[in-house]
Parts: sequence; C-alpha cells; structure tokens
Amino acid sequence: QPITTDMATLTKEVKKFARDKKLEIETLKIREEYRREFLGNVSHELKTPLFTVQGYLLTLLDGAMDDKNIRKKYLQRAEKGVERLIYIVKDLDMITKLEAGDINIEPSEFDIVELIQNVFELLEMRAAKKNISLTFDLHYKRPIKVIADQEKIQQVVTNLIVNSIKYGKQGGTTEVSIEDLVNNKVIIRITDNGEGIEKHHIPRLFERFYRVDKSGARSEGGSGLGLAIVKHIIESHSEKIYVESEFGVGSEFSFTLEKAK
Ligand code: ADP
Repeated sequence: QPITTDMATLTKEVKKFARDKKLEIETLKIREEYRREFLGNVSHELKTPLFTVQGYLLTLLDGAMDDKNIRKKYLQRAEKGVERLIYIVKDLDMITKLEAGDINIEPSEFDIVELIQNVFELLEMRAAKKNISLTFDLHYKRPIKVIADQEKIQQVVTNLIVNSIKYGKQGGTTEVSIEDLVNNKVIIRITDNGEGIEKHHIPRLFERFYRVDKSGARSEGGSGLGLAIVKHIIESHSEKIYVESEFGVGSEFSFTLEKAK
C-alpha cells in the first residue's frame, strides 16, 4: 500500500473511516435493540402458559389431588399448557432459523391438491369443534403438480387454515381454491367468513408477535409467529403472499407457487 502524504486525501480517508465506524455502531445498536425486543416478546409469550401449568400443579398439590375427578381434569389442563409451550418453542425455533437464513428449501414435485386434502383431514376435528366446514373448490383437473418444499408448504397451508378456524365464526366456512396464473404459476386461496381484520392492522400482520386482539388471540392459543413463518417460507421460495380482508365479513390469504412442467 502506498503511503498517502497528501493532507487532503488523508483527511478524506480519516473522515470516511469515522463514517464507516459510526455506521457500524448504528448497525450494532439496531441489532441489539432487535435482540432485546425479541427476547422480551419470547418471555412474554412463554409466561402465560407457564403460569397456567404452574397454577394447576399448585392447586393439585394444595389438596385437589385427593379428588379423583378434579385430579384428572387439572392434569389434563396442565398437559394442554405444556403442549402449547411446545408449539411456541417449535415456532420460535423455526422463525429463528428462517430469519438467520439457516433453512434450506428442498424443492420437489408434488400434488398440491393432495397436500391440501391431507391438511383438511388433520384439522377436521379442530374445525368440527367450531362447526366450521372445510371445503375445496374443485373446478380443475387434478393432480396439480407444483415444485416447492413440500414440508414447508404443508406448514404454510396448515398455519393459514388453523387461523381461518381460530378467527372463523361458529358454523362458518373455510374454502380453499386454486387458480392458474400466467408464467406457469398457480395461486392458492384460503378464504374464511370469520371476524375479518381492520384495514390499519394489515400492513403489520406478518410481523412476528403482531396480533390484532391481544387478549382474544391469546385465549385461542398460538405464538403470534404463524404468519411471520408463512411469509418467510413463501418469500424464500421467491413467491408472493397476499391478504385481503373486510372487518366483520372475512379474510382471504393467498400465495403463489411454481407449477411443474
Ligand atoms: P396467532 O398465533 O396470534 O394466530 P399469527 O401470526 O398466525 O399469530 O396471526 C397474527 C394475527 O393476525 C392474529 O393474532 C389475528 O389477529 C390475525 N389473523 C390471522 N389470520 C386471521 C384470519 N383468518 N382472520 C382474522 N384475523 C386473522
């Protein structure tokens, strides 16, 4: 490296160095802030189910254990709390990996119709509890072969349908439809006639831990990470996700996928 003797150049370089350092510090500060916020959110999410489990266990130890029926009921509730904790931790693990770019997309060819029908079967009981019917608009030839990471798309479809049930109304419907787009793509739509989402929430919906109704959503379970995970998965496929919703009428979430040739 030649030694710079020219004073003007030297000053310029020193200034540039200072600017770069400042930028570096700013970036570190933002990252630190981000990390702190994330940890804050995580402990908040874990607190509710942990206190629930603790509550049931303490009541049991306090004497409720002696009654056979109550014992079973409280143990089942405590177990539900643990199950919820496991879901939250799984989602946290997933979002951390997705945000760090630590997840490989492993594309393969599969029938999206079959995948959706599998998800319907898995969620049938849950939908039945709210008397919600899961319907498939089958106006197209099947199979519809797409190229994507099957396991991750299954998670996307599951999260979206679970939401349509959670925020759906008693006796409502969730309908899935598939349509061909130009450029060898398909669009998959999941439409519900549930509570809908007010306009001003829409831009923040896919942020992690963002919830429209903090108390209401929490009683329905979930980690507040579902849609953030969905968005990451779709974007790491270089595909698009959309949401349209009308408050009090219902919501439609849709995403694109590449069709197999
Ligand atoms: P959560 O675990 O709270 O369901 P998500 O990330 O899946 O977290 O969703 C974020 C928020 O978006 C939810 O809390 C809810 O307020 C809103 N939401 C998601 N899907 C729907 C839907 N189909 N209808 C109405 N609101 C929805």
